[in-house]
Amino acid sequence: MDRKIVAIDMDDTLCHLLPRAIHYHNLLYPDLPLTMEQIVNFDLRQIWHHECSEDVFFGRPGLYEELEIFDEYTIAEVEKIHAQHDLIIVTASRPDSVPEKWRWLQRHLPFISYENFFVAKRKYLLEFDVLIDDGPHNLLAARAAGKKTIGIPRPWNLPIQSEFVMKDSWQGMSELVNEMLTENE
Ligand SMILES: [Mg+2]
Repeated sequence: MDRKIVAIDMDDTLCHLLPRAIHYHNLLYPDLPLTMEQIVNFDLRQIWHHECSEDVFFGRPGLYEELEIFDEYTIAEVEKIHAQHDLIIVTASRPDSVPEKWRWLQRHLPFISYENFFVAKRKYLLEFDVLIDDGPHNLLAARAAGKKTIGIPRPWNLPIQSEFVMKDSWQGMSELVNEMLTENE
């Protein structure tokens, strides 16, 4: 097998962004507590408190550094994928949050070098063979470009879950990646 490029998203794929952002929203606006189940798309302006904004919700200093790792299998599985393939991290980060996200990676996945750290909102412009992501727009674009995909099931991708391979734990993720990459070879 040639060395393949495996692209992995960060937020709500490697770590839990939305639960933490919701936690802080609800501390600020206890009269309008949000739940994960309400996040059925990425247009949060419809549901967050009227005083909330992108900067308040996603721009809290330190937010990206304190996010919890997705689950107990994440680090070992990412390490296995990294050992076997060209693993790139691709995050649609706010520019101001890039240093925090890089520090998070250094702390949890220090074997990933900065050559493999891509900040890109338009992920469809990048070359890769497999994408692991929770964003429906990213999964749809990757599939349209003929790429393999593994989706992380979250409330905001519910409408497309039946169309994609979905995996809600990192347990066995590297095996699934290898199975996908050897299909049709
Ligand atoms: Mg994401």
